[in-house]
Amino acid sequence: MARTLKTTFHSLFMIELLKGMRLTGRYLFSKKFTIQYPEQKTPLSPRFRGLHAQRRYPNGEERCIACKLCEAVCPALAITIDVAEREDGSRRTTRYDIDLFKCIFCGFCEEACPVDAIVETRHFEYHFEECGEQIMTKDKLLATGDRLEAQIAADRAADAPYR
Ligand code: SF4
Ligand code: SF4
Repeated sequence: MARTLKTTFHSLFMIELLKGMRLTGRYLFSKKFTIQYPEQKTPLSPRFRGLHAQRRYPNGEERCIACKLCEAVCPALAITIDVAEREDGSRRTTRYDIDLFKCIFCGFCEEACPVDAIVETRHFEYHFEECGEQIMTKDKLLATGDRLEAQIAADRAADAPYR
């Protein structure tokens, strides 16, 4: 009986509706957490793991020495590397593919790399339109590295105390 009376009272005076409106009103005038993407963007950590890139040394030489550590450590088996020896005796990759459909962006590849060659950049605004575009080839990785080298270097310098 008491329960029925309480329910009737709540229904009659729209208590639940008023409670909801009070909650809405509280958030209406409070600080907003939403932003107008893509015009506005939230800050990203220097350790953000976005699109992969291959880096070069300042003289233009690719950093990767084809040690295959990244391929071995990748838990998703997303990296495929073929290797050949150059005329000067150094090892270099002839094929370096990352399948972004397999990649889980764990960052193990960049952690394992002894020469800071493979890195994950802050770049996350990309898409694919054709089948096969998800394969990041060596050329595409180097091109991304060339384009974003300034930001990559700055991020790694900022993150240096934690490495
Ligand atoms: S981020 Fe992780 S899953 Fe992706 S390629 Fe690197 S090691 Fe593999
Ligand atoms: S990217 Fe780094 S870990 Fe991978 S093969 Fe090249 S040097 Fe080795």
